[in-house]
Amino acid sequence: MQKTIKIYDRDSHLTTCEAMVLHCEFDKARDTHAVILDQTVFFPEGGGQFADLGYICENASEAESNNHKINQEPQKPVILANILDVQISDDIITHYTDRPMEVGTRVTCHIDWNRRFDFMQQHSAEHILSGLVYRTFGYHNVGFHLGMTETILDFDGPLTPEQLTWLEEEANKAIWQNIAFEITFPNKDTLTNLDYRSKKELSGEVRIVTLPGYDICACCAPHVYHTGEIGLVKIVSSMVHRGGMRLTILCGGRALWDYQTKQTSVEQISALLSAKQLEVAAAVAKAKEDQQALIYRVNDLQKKVLEAELKSLPAPDTTENVFLFQKDLDTKAIRNAVNDLCTRYTGYCGIFVGDSETGYNFVLGSATKDCREAATALREAFGAKGGGSAKMIQGSVTANETAIRGLIQRHS
Ligand SMILES: [Zn+2]
Repeated sequence: MQKTIKIYDRDSHLTTCEAMVLHCEFDKARDTHAVILDQTVFFPEGGGQFADLGYICENASEAESNNHKINQEPQKPVILANILDVQISDDIITHYTDRPMEVGTRVTCHIDWNRRFDFMQQHSAEHILSGLVYRTFGYHNVGFHLGMTETILDFDGPLTPEQLTWLEEEANKAIWQNIAFEITFPNKDTLTNLDYRSKKELSGEVRIVTLPGYDICACCAPHVYHTGEIGLVKIVSSMVHRGGMRLTILCGGRALWDYQTKQTSVEQISALLSAKQLEVAAAVAKAKEDQQALIYRVNDLQKKVLEAELKSLPAPDTTENVFLFQKDLDTKAIRNAVNDLCTRYTGYCGIFVGDSETGYNFVLGSATKDCREAATALREAFGAKGGGSAKMIQGSVTANETAIRGLIQRHS
């Protein structure tokens, strides 16, 4: 089989090309058809970049002559197959398609340009960043993943927040200069003396992607013509990773989408807190502080209410059991109060928080009686939940105050 001519290698902006179907067979493992063409605009997966998708239709000129024959309005060429994946092996590119194709047919290939252009924006920006990091700090790009939503870059050295800000600014300056990417296939001698990234012992010709002043790198993927096409590069997160640095970047359309989404979010926070858009973080910090102060205040008031309620209880020499029903109290405060009551009263000491309709959360303690017996009685009578030790039980119950008081009185 002859090597596939890589149209995308010569021109990254061609979205269609004519081709001849050389081979087609059913790929059992993939449950798709494996099609080989004499040439293609479809970039196969490689260099950290996904394969192009798109479709293959009947040759445009043949479709036109067919239209002519039957004397009708020109029709859109018929799609013969959709591209599901593209892979390369030994310079032969295999297109995995949803339908078989007849060998010898002349066809036209169409790539999904939006997808390709998005990938090129991310990948070309990665070269700018990696080139800058290599030239300035001497770190290598040791990991590159161009995902569907974000791109991850790993460097083998640390970068400070100031260095990252500088890096982002320099990369965007490279975009504003609208510099042209150069694609070359240098001979072996030239390669040996060339300082470029991703230098490995490669057999066959090596494709060098150069961005003058910024980067030289061996790379098989298609790139934008000029850096201006990238539009914008934004580092959206950075973390220390294996002694180096992992960056997540968004470029071009993805960076715009990110800005739009964050802008909507900032606008909403700004309106909610009546703060200027650039000052929402300080406004949120202030709101959190205010909330914490309110929590302290509420806790303090609850404590005071509880103290007052406890003072109003009948004296220990007039009753064995003592109960307090309250609308709203903090659980920790209740436990402490019940413990305190148990040192003064001989019977059951209980605090119930809530109301008879939605139910009460309760803590029941006793220095002399087995609280588990009261728990059983509450469960059997009102379906109460919870449990604990002989000295103290905790749970929830839905019944009215009089019924609860009556039941525990009877069991004491
Ligand atoms: Zn590359």
